[in-house]
Amino acid sequence: MSCLWSPIWLFSQERFVIALKRKKIKVSIFGFSVLFFVLFCAFASLYTFWKSPFGFFGCEVESDSCDVLRVHFLSVGSADSIVIEFSKKGCSSCYALVDAGDIGSHEVCDYLYKLNVKKINYAFLTHPHRDHLGQFPEVLGSFQVDMFVTNKNATNFEKYGITSKKLWEIVKEKGIPFKFVMSGARFLLGEVEIFVLGPVFDYGDAEKNLNDSSLVLSVRFKNRAFLLTGDATSKSERDLIENCKDCLQADLLKLGHHGGGGSTSSKFLRHVSPSVAVLCAGNQESVAKKGYLRALKYGVPVYKTCDGNVVVTTDGVSPLTIKTERASLRGAA
Ligand SMILES: [Zn+2]
Repeated sequence: MSCLWSPIWLFSQERFVIALKRKKIKVSIFGFSVLFFVLFCAFASLYTFWKSPFGFFGCEVESDSCDVLRVHFLSVGSADSIVIEFSKKGCSSCYALVDAGDIGSHEVCDYLYKLNVKKINYAFLTHPHRDHLGQFPEVLGSFQVDMFVTNKNATNFEKYGITSKKLWEIVKEKGIPFKFVMSGARFLLGEVEIFVLGPVFDYGDAEKNLNDSSLVLSVRFKNRAFLLTGDATSKSERDLIENCKDCLQADLLKLGHHGGGGSTSSKFLRHVSPSVAVLCAGNQESVAKKGYLRALKYGVPVYKTCDGNVVVTTDGVSPLTIKTERASLRGAA
């Protein structure tokens, strides 16, 4: 921004006054130079704003490397809950939540309190099974949520039990804006883009189709991508591949349906081509599941939430940093 003040400094200089007293041609050359300088600074400022609107307005960063995306895979038993946190140095973070664990516990709210979350920008429910919607009523009741996002099949609360009913009552009571999405929707969390890749089709709200209808999210920050698949099945994976082969590539893949054999097909693994994977599973028995074994066979290191919360950090350029309660690894991606 200081660049824009430079012409004012120039005009205040004695040299400029002297220049005015000289021949017209010299004044014109000087004026032309000043005009060129002003235009150059204006373009430079516009470019800075385009690259980093938050930084331009004083939500200041010292360099690109202090923008950080953290994806927290919570240890919530055989269930899913993922917190997406985007932070800029000197700014408050913004958050998205993808699923809220199983019923009968408070781990998700406890974790959000621990992170000092004040507001959730987006709350995504991938599909209305209890191991994904479980603690949403408590989360929606306890935090400011700017938008609740799910697929339209999740509205059939009568069918999905008391927790689902409670969830929609809170959405209504608090006036939380909500949105039903399918493939093609896009959300912005700071400078992180969240693309909804699936479901590609409306698979209906029959119990047997709910996993197919899972929201599939591609979370992208600069050169890094995370693919979060809910409980999407190999049928959904086939449709995802047909719909957008190039969108699927990710550095990190959350294995579908807790590592079950009906998800994470070999073909899907080839298209995603992850460097690392996360398995949301409650106990070591889950690690015998075929989807998980396929990922291992593909040569992908898999971090498991049954070992603790898995926290993945990236500046969007460097390799992912991955930590669990028991292990840490740098340079996985
Ligand atoms: Zn599940």
